[in-house]
Amino acid sequence: MRDMNYTPKLIYCNECTDIVRLWEETTTCKCGKCSGELTNDGNRAVYRGPAVPIRFGHNFERAVEAHNEGCGWGFDVDMPYQFDETFKKQTA
Ligand SMILES: [Zn+2]
Repeated sequence: MRDMNYTPKLIYCNECTDIVRLWEETTTCKCGKCSGELTNDGNRAVYRGPAVPIRFGHNFERAVEAHNEGCGWGFDVDMPYQFDETFKKQTA
């Protein structure tokens, strides 16, 4: 199992409903109001703007495995998670 901190981190823009993955280079949503990037060698992420942070847990990896084994399953993102130091809104 890979470290949770290395699973993809995304942000969902409340304004334009775009979803973008965060990388070392800053990425911006379609309307430009939300942006973010990975920090600390990819261990952490920060974002700005009216965005909802999205992180994948172990169920996601299990869903990927099931899909790859031919189960035809996708993944439904619907559970909130506790904010922590690895994914923070940047102010100022
Ligand atoms: Zn946007």
